[in-house]
Amino acid sequence: MGVFSVEERAEMLTFSPQGGDLCSKVYLVEGDTLVDLGNPKYTGEIHDLLVGRGIYPKTIRRIFLTHLHFDHVGDPSLFPRAQVFAAKESIDSYAKHPGKEVWLSYARNGTGEGASGQVFIDRMNGGKVRLLPLEDALPEITGGNRTLKDITSNGGGYFLMKGHSPGSVALMLREGIFVGDCYGHRKAPTATADSRKKRFIEFIRNYRLDVFKGHDDHEN
Ligand SMILES: [Zn+2]
Repeated sequence: MGVFSVEERAEMLTFSPQGGDLCSKVYLVEGDTLVDLGNPKYTGEIHDLLVGRGIYPKTIRRIFLTHLHFDHVGDPSLFPRAQVFAAKESIDSYAKHPGKEVWLSYARNGTGEGASGQVFIDRMNGGKVRLLPLEDALPEITGGNRTLKDITSNGGGYFLMKGHSPGSVALMLREGIFVGDCYGHRKAPTATADSRKKRFIEFIRNYRLDVFKGHDDHEN
């Protein structure tokens, strides 16, 4: 039995975990880009579900990680030609404290549920995965003057949100905004808006964007 249910919407696929260990949603957009990879335990299933739809791992060109927690990083080495992007703040924090950034030590109910993140750390240490700064792929959305059209016609952009982890980001792509755990998450309430969050919330409201969360509401 698989962990994920798959939803097709226009040219986008959404993989939503149904039970199992803590795991983010995984989105396929534009045919060659993945947003987050879920828990490393389950990346093999994502891989197989894609192959089952005729989408081969070597055709995945980009992976955007909204942040580096174990339930989002997956195993990027299963997509050998993909460039893997995360915010510079996440990459710097990972370099200093990989275990903390990937969240290996977190224990809920006495279980070290972040241990599966070791797969990601092993791939990094083995040189099979290299993280590139997100700004190489997408511009940061900070100024107030840019329109949605400007942003999407240049391939998208990102909001650096920080609150949930040092480099947590929300990604603006053609399909909508992929917020990871930045928005509506109990640990990063957007109600405590600093100027960044304010700008971000305004942006979503102004453009009535589709919001794609890292988890369903019942999870965190
Ligand atoms: Zn998460």
